[in-house]
Amino acid sequence: MTTAENQLRREIIETARALQSTGLTHGTSGNVSARCNNGMLITPSGVPYEDLEVEKIVFMDLEGGYYGDFLPSSEWRMHLDIYRTYEAAEAVVHCHSPRATALSTHNRGIPAFHYMVAVAGGDEIKCADYATFGTKALSDAMIAALEDRRACLLAHHGQIAYGPSLNKAFGLAGEVEALADQYLSALVLGEPAPLSPTEMKEILRKFRSYGKQLDALDGDDAGAFEMPQRRD
Ligand code: 13P
Ligand code: ZN
Repeated sequence: MTTAENQLRREIIETARALQSTGLTHGTSGNVSARCNNGMLITPSGVPYEDLEVEKIVFMDLEGGYYGDFLPSSEWRMHLDIYRTYEAAEAVVHCHSPRATALSTHNRGIPAFHYMVAVAGGDEIKCADYATFGTKALSDAMIAALEDRRACLLAHHGQIAYGPSLNKAFGLAGEVEALADQYLSALVLGEPAPLSPTEMKEILRKFRSYGKQLDALDGDDAGAFEMPQRRD
């Protein structure tokens, strides 16, 4: 095992443990993976987060073969299908975060009730149709619900998010949970009016440059924000 792979295995364990310590998942629910050498490294199935060790993280190739003595997460298909479908995916986090899961039990996703839904890359976060956990049917439903976005809910189950790094995928799962929390609170007064498709298009444009500093902004990006005057 190379030093880089060893480091990635450690980061997967840290991310998985952070899911538990931040309340994004409970018990052995949830799983974490990262792309590695034409395949992926993924948490083993049913192993308590506190018992994870570098050697227990499972390597799988992109055809679904696994190596070693530990069985990969029962959701390996969802993770592999994301890496196969989205080149930009470097890490995937699945969890049963309480508020996103509560919403998913009503087969409901998160509409454009708040501009931050654009954080997942679209004008809403969809909920994938229900299918039994650990099945190809669930993975197919997830791929249909992602539709070029980086996160979706899974009906009667939880949520899944991917990103360009473990930190980003973990961060996005946290954002989805926060949005589900805010949406459920807003529903107390009835269904909030959604932002218009035109407004969400503008938000998505701004998100392409949000967080970038001057040296990283190209012409189109720079136009998305009203820039204050720079003084010498
Ligand atoms: P694993 O322990 O097999 O990863 O399963 C947890 C889970 O969340 C199944 O959906
Ligand atoms: Zn699950």
